[in-house]
Amino acid sequence: MPELTAPQWLAVAGALAGLGLLLSLGFALQRRRVEARAYLRGVRYVLSDDPDAAIEALSDAARLGSPEAVETYLALGSLFRRTGDMARAVRLHRNMLLRAGLTPERRREIELELAEDYRRGGMAGDAEAAYRALWQAGERRAGEGLRDVLVDAGRLDEAVEVQQALSQGGADPVRAHLLAAVSRARSAAGDREGALAAARQAVECPGHADALLALAEAEAAAGNRAAAREAADAALSADPRAALLAWPALQALGDPAEALAVVEPRLAAAPADPALHLLRARALYRAGRSAEAADAARQALALDHTGEVTVSMREVLRETTSPAPEELPWRHELMVKALLRKVRPARCSRCGAETAVPAWRCRRCGAFGSFGPRA
Ligand SMILES: [Zn+2]
Repeated sequence: MPELTAPQWLAVAGALAGLGLLLSLGFALQRRRVEARAYLRGVRYVLSDDPDAAIEALSDAARLGSPEAVETYLALGSLFRRTGDMARAVRLHRNMLLRAGLTPERRREIELELAEDYRRGGMAGDAEAAYRALWQAGERRAGEGLRDVLVDAGRLDEAVEVQQALSQGGADPVRAHLLAAVSRARSAAGDREGALAAARQAVECPGHADALLALAEAEAAAGNRAAAREAADAALSADPRAALLAWPALQALGDPAEALAVVEPRLAAAPADPALHLLRARALYRAGRSAEAADAARQALALDHTGEVTVSMREVLRETTSPAPEELPWRHELMVKALLRKVRPARCSRCGAETAVPAWRCRRCGAFGSFGPRA
């Protein structure tokens, strides 16, 4: 073999390096092609509505490590959850976690998704354990999930504790909602002092209608009628939309004349507010002025453009069990009108769930105050 000069050596080395590069590029390209095929197959199954085949195909792609597959997986998982297919969502996310080489961020993201599947699938124990582990590892979103699991389970005091840890100081509307719920739960258990204490903590968040209504209910139960009336009034000032949720507070005032004293001045200032008309109807009915109540309810229906008040009216008409015989004609008339009315539901800004019934908390995702004004 002839001696090679230095430049010749360099040329050979360069050529070998080039060849190596070409080969590895070829392998990489080949690998990408296989991944892309598995990925496209997965997407095709998703589109043709064959989720099990899609999970399988996407598993192949994910094993091969394509970033698109991970994204598609996550999207598919949230699709399953949205359509209520929790078993598939769980299987999908568990499969994803089996994949080697996930970055810690990706792993946490998938674990959060899995915890959410557990929560929504009614596997509260698994959800709590998963969220707790992530929360202890410093994942803030897991704290929110843990709080929601605790609220679902009615463990409100613990939920308040978690929320307190999540709170970054200052007014915290979620904490106020939770404390309002704590207050009502204590009330229901006969603990008036405890109910009052929780409600007073709740109103530390200024202008919070739910907290103020809870305070009104607790003050009324403790016999502090003036304070109760003041709090109910403040709630309606803080958020006019609270009117549909204000009846328990107004009813707790005891004397329907007190409820009318809160509602009627507001109605004079806002005569087109159907929710106030419905509140007035309920107070009048309680006061035994049922013909006037029927008129007020008719007005509420006539003014209700979103259907929100109509839904509440259906509830009211359903609730009252044994009407006097002379009430039957107008009750029937109102019921028919209320049932025929089309209702536009409110949509949760966090998860997109729709509700016709007014509520502070989204039952699906657990968010508080997430229902905006109706379309
Ligand atoms: Zn929601």
